[in-house]
This record gives sequence, C-alpha cells and structure tokens, in this order.
Amino acid sequence: MTSLSTFDLDAWLAALTATEQPPPIVQAGAVVLRQRAFDVPRELFGSPALLRLVDLMVDVMRTAPGVGLAAPQIGVPLRIFVAEDAAERLARVAPESLAARGRAPLPLMAFVNPTVTLGTPAGREPAVFFEGCLSVRGYGALVPRAATVRVTAVDPRGAPIALDMHGWPARIMQHEMDHLDGTLYVDRMLSRSLAGDAALGELSGLPVSDVIKALVDP
Ligand code: ZN
Repeated sequence: MTSLSTFDLDAWLAALTATEQPPPIVQAGAVVLRQRAFDVPRELFGSPALLRLVDLMVDVMRTAPGVGLAAPQIGVPLRIFVAEDAAERLARVAPESLAARGRAPLPLMAFVNPTVTLGTPAGREPAVFFEGCLSVRGYGALVPRAATVRVTAVDPRGAPIALDMHGWPARIMQHEMDHLDGTLYVDRMLSRSLAGDAALGELSGLPVSDVIKALVDP
C-alpha cells in the first residue's frame, strides 16, 4: 500500500518504467482514492517528471476512454487532473442529450493544484444527470452538481489558469476535483438511482424526471 505521508514521483515513474506497462486505473477501495492528495511542489512545475506524469494521465484517460482523470486514479497522490471531451466523441451522442446536459467540446487541459468554486445562478436548480467513474467500473448514478464553476489552477509548466465553466464541463471539473479530496461520486449520488452498465444505456436516454419517478421516488 502506498504510504501517503510522502510521495516520490521520480521513484514512482522509475518503477512504472520497469513494468513496461501503462499504469492501471485504481478501483474504489484503494486508500489513495480516499485521502486528500498533496499539493504539487513548485519545484516540479515544468519538470520532466511532472510533464511525463501528465502525458501518462492523458494516455490512460484516452485509452479508457474517459472525459477526465485525476492523478490518484493511477495511484499518484498529487493534486493534478486532466480533462478532455473531444468533438469526435460528442458526435456519437444524440443532440437532445448534448443540449440537456450543456455538453460542449472541452479541449484537452491539465490542471495542477486546482481550486473549484461552485455556483448555481439564482433561480436555477443544481443539474442532476447520470455520472460514472473509471474507478467505479460497471455502474452509474444520478449526481446533483452545481451548474457553473470557476476553476483556478496552474498548468504543468506553472502558468496560471482561470476559467468559468458551465454545463457538462462544470460537472467534469467537480467530479475530478472531488478525487483530489478523497471523494467519489458515490458519496454524492442519489443512491437509489445506482444502475449497472446494462441498465444505464436505457436510463440515460430518459428524461431525468422519469428516472427519479421510477427509481428514486416511486
Ligand atoms: Zn472519477
């Protein structure tokens, strides 16, 4: 079990190189998914080790495939996540589904030492949609999320980032930020909406109000 009091990125990368395999995605039950990840020290900004870690994270996210990946999901307790919702991926989703979720292309970005401030405009409810996680394979559930977020961070070279996001990108930011604080979507889900992948195909095509009526509040 990884000691979470210290983390040696160089040693981790050397051990990974020795395996000649991509890092596996850690599944729920691993301690690293339940602890607050460490701030990335300034000395690492722009370093070959940090840039290599981010490249690995992007490869793992794209291979999975997923729209976000936090460093703890590959066993690295550092405050970093990557996100991407590519246009080619959105092209396979029904336009009504994209519109309902506020899902729009999100270019590949890496966030180091991020903060995410939640906002929901007055008169608007938090958004409730099905969400899944590469670290909780085989399931999804309805999760309420704030409609908008402000994200601040630095990029892997230390350049500041400040972005306002809404809709699906805002959900991705909240989900990934949670990973850095040891929180999984299952801690926030409407638990009665938990569904296996086989059922999710149909459920995620229905209006959320119908799903709530059928499963959450029958
Ligand atoms: Zn996740």
